[in-house]
Amino acid sequence: MRIDIITVLPELVEPFVQESILGRAQKKGLVEIHVHNLRDYSTNRWRRVDDYPFGGFAGMVMQCEPIDRCISALKAEREYDEVIFTSPDGEQFSQPMANELSLKKNIIILCGHYKGIDWRIREHLITREVSIGDYVLTGGELAAAVMTDAIVRILPGAIGDEQSALSDSFQDNLLAAPVYSRPKQYTAVDGTDWGSVPDILLSGHEARIKEWELQQSLERTRRLRPDLLEGK
Ligand code: SAH
Repeated sequence: MRIDIITVLPELVEPFVQESILGRAQKKGLVEIHVHNLRDYSTNRWRRVDDYPFGGFAGMVMQCEPIDRCISALKAEREYDEVIFTSPDGEQFSQPMANELSLKKNIIILCGHYKGIDWRIREHLITREVSIGDYVLTGGELAAAVMTDAIVRILPGAIGDEQSALSDSFQDNLLAAPVYSRPKQYTAVDGTDWGSVPDILLSGHEARIKEWELQQSLERTRRLRPDLLEGK
C-alpha cells in the first residue's frame, strides 16, 4: 500500500510517520508513506499556496493551482483509489473506514489549512471527505496522522501479534476487555492496595479465558457504548 500526504507542514507529519509502528511497517515494506510539501507546487515566487477569499470573508483559502499540480503529478505516476480531503464537515472516520481504506492500493490524503480549500478542488479532485470528529483543528495534519496510524497498524504484519489488532476496541463492534501485566498484586506508591489480577487470567484455561474476555467486552460495550450493539 502507498499513502501520499499533501501538506503545507511536512515537518509536522514526516517525523510522525517515521516513528514506531508506522516507521517499522515502512521498513518491512508493508506500506510506503510519502509526505509532499504543497509549496513545492506553487508557481508563486514566494511559494504561496493561499489567497484572500472572494466575497470579503475573513481568513485565507488554499488555491486550486498548487493542489491541482501536486495531485496531477502524483496521478501521472500511478492510479489512486481515493483522494481524501480532511474536513470537519466530512464523513466521520471510524474503524470500519480504517479497515476499508487499509485494503486500498494507493491513497492521497490532502490536509487543509486556513479557512479551507477552494471549493472547486472538492468538486473536481476529491473522492472522499473525512472528519476525525466534531471539532475544528487548525489544519488537516493531525487528521492525516490519525487516519494513517489507524490504517497502517491493521496491515497484516504491522504489529507483532496480528491477533492483537483484531481484539482492539471497535473491531466486531465491541470495546476491548481489560488487560493486565506483572505484578499479579500491586501496592501503590501511597500504600493503597490496587488488588490483584482476575484469577481466570492466571488459570491457563484458554477457552475459559476467551469466554471471560468476550463477557467483559460485552459488559463494557453494553454499559459504555450501547449504540455499538444495535444491529448485532
Ligand atoms: N472553515 C472550515 C474549517 C477550517 S479548519 C470549516 O468550517 O469547515 C482548517 C483545516 O483543518 C480544514 O480545511 C481541514 O483540512 C482541517 N480540519 C479541521 N478540523 C478537522 C476535523 N475535525 N477533521 C479533519 N480535518 C479537520
